Amino acid sequence: MPELPEVEATRLSFADRIAGGRILSASLGKPLRWPLGIAPQRLAGRTVQGVRRRGKYLLLDLDQGLLLLHLGMSGSLSFAPQLPAPGPHDHFELVTSRGTLRLNDPRRFGAVVWVAGEDAPQARKLLGGLGVEPLSDDFDLDAFHAALKARRAPIKQLLLAGDVVVGVGNIYASEALFLAGIRPTLSAARLSRPRAQKLQAAIREVLGRALAAGGTTLRNYSNAVGERGNFQFEAMVYGRAGQPCRVCGTPIKAIRQGQRATFFCPNCQKT
Ligand SMILES: [Zn+2]
Repeated sequence: MPELPEVEATRLSFADRIAGGRILSASLGKPLRWPLGIAPQRLAGRTVQGVRRRGKYLLLDLDQGLLLLHLGMSGSLSFAPQLPAPGPHDHFELVTSRGTLRLNDPRRFGAVVWVAGEDAPQARKLLGGLGVEPLSDDFDLDAFHAALKARRAPIKQLLLAGDVVVGVGNIYASEALFLAGIRPTLSAARLSRPRAQKLQAAIREVLGRALAAGGTTLRNYSNAVGERGNFQFEAMVYGRAGQPCRVCGTPIKAIRQGQRATFFCPNCQKT
């Protein structure tokens, strides 16, 4: 599933090249998670001014309104001057004067939604509940620690929920907790301020390293120009059940939390 680094790597791979492009046509395939919210032909003539990211949403700013794009479980984008004929899993296409942007999404949990502005009801519904951006200056230790103190959920599940800090999905939550030496099952409320600070730094480091590696490719993720991620080769715990910890040699343990697999080192992450 694409997480923050994959979405950001995708953004970086086409944002500069599509900016300034005039939309020539837009077309839809099978229904995605939410309807587009506008007749696709009404997008023709609009200009793509730039591409931003909020959480795992890409925001394509148009000269009128914006498109919110989410990759869901299995989505990926392609951008090129010309693309081959659409396949059965291509469900959205934007032909612009700068090139064609296409969403491939076999499981169709992704979405493209047009909104008039970021304060439109649908935009507020999708973006309003998102937590702070972990790579921005808004990720403040006092606020982070206060939010943790108010919650009894296991720290890893709180990170995944995305309402305190956004975009730290399953892989990066496991990796950040390892780096901070925190047991994923620990109640968030029990984290001291120094440990919250360690976790904050670890989240930034893990996401920064993942972004530098172009994200993680477990199955079929690639950015909009077809480059795969390499962070999976750097993972300390994720996907390494039974293998020796890269720090202390203890076998990495895998447990289930919620519906998700969690990986940790029982020695490096005692509490
Ligand atoms: Zn260890």
